[in-house]
Amino acid sequence: MVTKLLPFERKKRILIENLKKEGILKSKKVEEAIMRVPRELFVPEEYIEYAYFDEPLPIGFGQTISAPHMVVIMTEELDPEIGWKVLEVGTGSGYQASVIAEIVAPKELPPEKWGHVYTIERIEALAKRAKINLERAGYADRVTVIVGDGSLGYPEASPYDGIIVTAGAPKIPDPLINQLKIGGRIVIPIGDRYFQRLYVVEKTETGLKINIKTPCVFVPLVGKEGFEGEER
Ligand code: SAM
Repeated sequence: MVTKLLPFERKKRILIENLKKEGILKSKKVEEAIMRVPRELFVPEEYIEYAYFDEPLPIGFGQTISAPHMVVIMTEELDPEIGWKVLEVGTGSGYQASVIAEIVAPKELPPEKWGHVYTIERIEALAKRAKINLERAGYADRVTVIVGDGSLGYPEASPYDGIIVTAGAPKIPDPLINQLKIGGRIVIPIGDRYFQRLYVVEKTETGLKINIKTPCVFVPLVGKEGFEGEER
C-alpha cells in the first residue's frame, strides 16, 4: 500500500501515476524500470527533495538531468528489449542509462542474457560522477561510461540495436547511422540550440525511416557532428 512505502518510493509512485494519467507513460516495462531506478541517487545532494518532481534539474557544468516525462518519452520511443546493446550519447548523471539498463539487462535474468548500455559523455568530471552514481545504484555491471565526443558515436562496441541522444543536435550524425544495426532505432532531438523536435529514426535495408514527434528542449550536442566549436 502506498502509505507503507518509504518517502522516496511514495513520491515515485505519485510521479508514475501522474505520468500515466497524463497519457505519457504507457508501457509496463518502462513503468517498472522507472519504479526500480532510484532517481534520488542521480541528482545533486542539494536537489534531492526534488528528485521526483517532473522537472529537469541542474547537475553542474551547465548541464541537466532530463525531466522524468522526457526520460519516459525517449525510452518508450527507443522501445529497447532484453539483450539489446544500446549507445547513449550524453551520460549526464547516468539516470537515463540506468532506466535502459533495467530493461535490456534485468537483474533477475542470468548475466549471459543481459544486454548492455554504453554511454558517452564529453565532460570528464560529469562522467566520473555518473560512474559513482551508477555504482551506488547498482548498475556498474550493466552500464559502461566512456569519456569522449559522442557525436562520433563509439565504434568500438558497435553495431548497436538502439542509440539514444540526450542532447539537441543540428542533424542526425552520420557516424551514429553507421554504427546502428539494420532494423535498429535512433531517438534524437533535432533542431537548433534552443528548441528541437524528437526524431525517431529507423535504419532499414533501403535507407532511413524518420518519424518526427514531440517538441522538446535539450542542452546542445556539441562536437564534430554536433554544434562544433560551441562550448554549451
Ligand atoms: N541523459 C542524462 C541523464 O540521464 O542525466 C542527461 C543528459 S544532459 C540533458 C546532456 C548531456 O550531453 C550533458 O551532460 C552534456 O555534457 C552531454 N553532451 C553534449 N554534447 C556531447 C557530446 N558531443 N558527446 C558526449 N556528451 C555530450
